Amino acid sequence: MLPSISPSLRIASRFIRPRFPTPRTPLAPTPPTFSRPLHTTPPNPSSARYRYQQRQRLRTGAYTAFLRWTSRPTFLLEAAGLGALTGSFYLYNLEEVPVSGRRRFNIVSESFLQSLSEDKNKEILNQYQGRILPESDARSKQVRRVLERLAPNSGLPLDYNWQATVIESEDANAFVIPGGKVFVFTGILPVCDGDDGLAAVLGHEIGHNVARHMAEQISRNIFLIGAAWVVELFWGVPGDMSLHLLQFAIDMPKSRAQESEADHIGLMLMAKSCYDPKAAVAVWERMEIEEQKMPRPPEILSTHPSSSRRQAELTALLPRAYEVSLDSDCAITGQYTDEFKQFGQDFGFSF
Ligand SMILES: [Zn+2]
Repeated sequence: MLPSISPSLRIASRFIRPRFPTPRTPLAPTPPTFSRPLHTTPPNPSSARYRYQQRQRLRTGAYTAFLRWTSRPTFLLEAAGLGALTGSFYLYNLEEVPVSGRRRFNIVSESFLQSLSEDKNKEILNQYQGRILPESDARSKQVRRVLERLAPNSGLPLDYNWQATVIESEDANAFVIPGGKVFVFTGILPVCDGDDGLAAVLGHEIGHNVARHMAEQISRNIFLIGAAWVVELFWGVPGDMSLHLLQFAIDMPKSRAQESEADHIGLMLMAKSCYDPKAAVAVWERMEIEEQKMPRPPEILSTHPSSSRRQAELTALLPRAYEVSLDSDCAITGQYTDEFKQFGQDFGFSF
């Protein structure tokens, strides 16, 4: 007969661990484990391989999160809400470009552009140090003279801080940064062949500022970077490559459209300032001759339209430009009387 133990001792015995428990499975030596192999250097965060691995990890995580979202019962409702919100944001930020009347998306403020402009201006002045012509130089005076006649007709505030810098260079080029900072290379002056041609070039550069093309470009780039990320997420195309593809498909055609628009605005501006609009076409004829001396990528691979296309577009706008000149009483003031008579014969106007 087994000795009887009290019920309380029986319950307590369940919680008492034996001093030398018998292992259920025979003990075997456990091999040591390491979080990474021995004799390797730690990952280099700036290496391409490390960046690729990080990107892949991020991509997998984002894709998993997206799949989890699509499996939610409220996914369609949430996706529709997000679409409506994005559409409203896009419509709210649409604005009309002066002169051309084109509607475009822009989320960049004028004050932000101005802050960018200050730094960029200093950077350019440093870059061309020693090659900037003094204000007393005849070429600086010519550029300033034309700019001062165009600027009040640009539609921008009269206190807009226009500034012309002429740089000694063989390049037949000119460019503008936001905030009215215009840079002209001396190499373009023979192509301009006088104040009228120079007015076409400066009018184009002012046109970029009037249309706030830089703001539009930054807004577009924000969208493109987001789109490139989505392309990488769903189709696995590396971010840099998808960004280049999107730039080729979207950014370059838009950039060419902006150039044509700046030509349009510049033509109307020079016409309003009583410069001869036909000089703009002549500038691009001479530019085409200059370009033939050097190889140039095909138009589709370029951010600028071809010179022949620019001539054709400007020629098509000439009747409107002469109307603008007429409204500005340019014929009465006697400047370009011969051109107006010729225009009248060509287009059936009488002055
Ligand atoms: Zn341009």
